[in-house]
Amino acid sequence: MEASEKLIVAVDIGGTQARAALVNPDGRIVARRITATQAEEGVQAALQRIMAIVWEVLGDIPKERILGLGVAAPGPLDPWRGVIYNPPNLPGWDKLPLRELWEKEFGLPVYVGNDANLAALGEHRYGAGQGIRHLAYLTISTGIGGGVIVDGRLLLGAAGLASEVGHMTVEARGPRCKCGNIGCLEVLAAGPAIAREGVAALRQGRSPGIKALVGNDLASVTGKVVVEAALAGDAVAREILQRAAFYIGVGIVNLVHLFNPNLVILGGGIAIGAGEALLAPVREVVFQRAMPAFCQNLSIVPAALGDDAGLLGAAALVLSQ
Ligand SMILES: [Zn+2]
Repeated sequence: MEASEKLIVAVDIGGTQARAALVNPDGRIVARRITATQAEEGVQAALQRIMAIVWEVLGDIPKERILGLGVAAPGPLDPWRGVIYNPPNLPGWDKLPLRELWEKEFGLPVYVGNDANLAALGEHRYGAGQGIRHLAYLTISTGIGGGVIVDGRLLLGAAGLASEVGHMTVEARGPRCKCGNIGCLEVLAAGPAIAREGVAALRQGRSPGIKALVGNDLASVTGKVVVEAALAGDAVAREILQRAAFYIGVGIVNLVHLFNPNLVILGGGIAIGAGEALLAPVREVVFQRAMPAFCQNLSIVPAALGDDAGLLGAAALVLSQ
């Protein structure tokens, strides 16, 4: 890197690990550090650990070269004030004024965004959505999150809480979601839902593919295991994946009708792990159900940035200010 090049500090705070990186405006990561979040040790201990890796990536780079510090954090949060409101995977982080704290700590402008929203922004600026002004992004892993880009801008909503794509109702009389509502996309199609059906199949002796991977250990059946069994050709695992794909497709039909995107990007461990085994049935549902005019210029593609989507989105957030 040239000594005059401007840089961005990007931080991605997750429930298990936190990452910090130095990113150039083209989205190239020039330094990175990682630490365990260990939220169970309390807010202060976790914050100290994360601030330490931020200081490490900053090294002795003069402050004038840093455009700002972008943070991807789990929601709910207030993206304008940079306040975090008790996310389920960061217990104790309630009403935490991260922006204020870190502007004081680092003496840099700090911008905070919801991690799934910022992954959408990252894919828009540096990944599968480059040059696309209208797109929707969904991440399918332990939960389902996402973001919507309208006319080149990330949609935030009145309180900055848009867009919880995992909590779209896709089965109005379906199972209860942990958010309290009924029949959310997340409770029907995220990793735990896929795992639950994998457990049932294993218990009933219907899935030799899952059995080959975990034996009779029901507790080892994860969404990832079911995906692996499906890719290895297990018919029941494939059915389970197709059922998840059905609900994801239904959710995307709603997004397509609401926002009329040209592109829908699917990221997250389950979607990337399954690849076309998930994408193909998702496309089938969407193109069968959405009104034809919405489908004419619509593609559904895998995400391109992998685990770095949140980090690069945090960098894109700084550049968008
Ligand atoms: Zn829900």
